[in-house]
Amino acid sequence: MRIIVKERDNVEEHVCVIDKEAHHGCWMPARQVPSPNCDARPANEVSLLLIHAISLPPGQFGGSAIEALFTNQLNPDEHPFFAEVAHLRVSAHFLIRRDGQCIQFVDAGQRAWHAGRSRWWDPGRRAWRTALNDFSVGIELEGDDKTPFAKAQYRALVDATQWLMARYPQLTSSRITSHAKVAPLRKTDPGPAFDWAYFYQRLVGQSS
Ligand SMILES: [Zn+2]
Repeated sequence: MRIIVKERDNVEEHVCVIDKEAHHGCWMPARQVPSPNCDARPANEVSLLLIHAISLPPGQFGGSAIEALFTNQLNPDEHPFFAEVAHLRVSAHFLIRRDGQCIQFVDAGQRAWHAGRSRWWDPGRRAWRTALNDFSVGIELEGDDKTPFAKAQYRALVDATQWLMARYPQLTSSRITSHAKVAPLRKTDPGPAFDWAYFYQRLVGQSS
């Protein structure tokens, strides 16, 4: 959305218009909750999908803490764990809740802050790459290492991935990986509960 000011009869009129060019990275089915934790991609490349999992507090589902974290509104006094993470300036492009609802925090054309220190072997360039936020999309699934993800979450993840692959042709099904794979000493998400075979089966099944 962009605010434009029209002058008519010397009266300023503020009109909201959908600016398709500026917001082509918004996925329509997602509820939009803009995060300030983003900036411009340095090279306009979108060619990698990183799948994450998150629960706040850890192991608990539901509530508004993840949204609060990604919008810098998490109250550190509400839970001992919140005090550890409330100062972080982080985000992801999407969060898929347990019921499959999707929230978008950052336009996919913008750089979200989700990968942290990480590196990935780019098979196209035949080189290790760092600064993965520059060219990746981050999708968080609400979950933990132990609990199977919900069918509705796989459905929404496949839908979002299909849209991303159509929107950004450099992002192909061979350029999808986990946070754990790109930061193996620090991260485990989305963890062993994420069923990669099921995800790819649905992804390929829907695109053919
Ligand atoms: Zn992660």
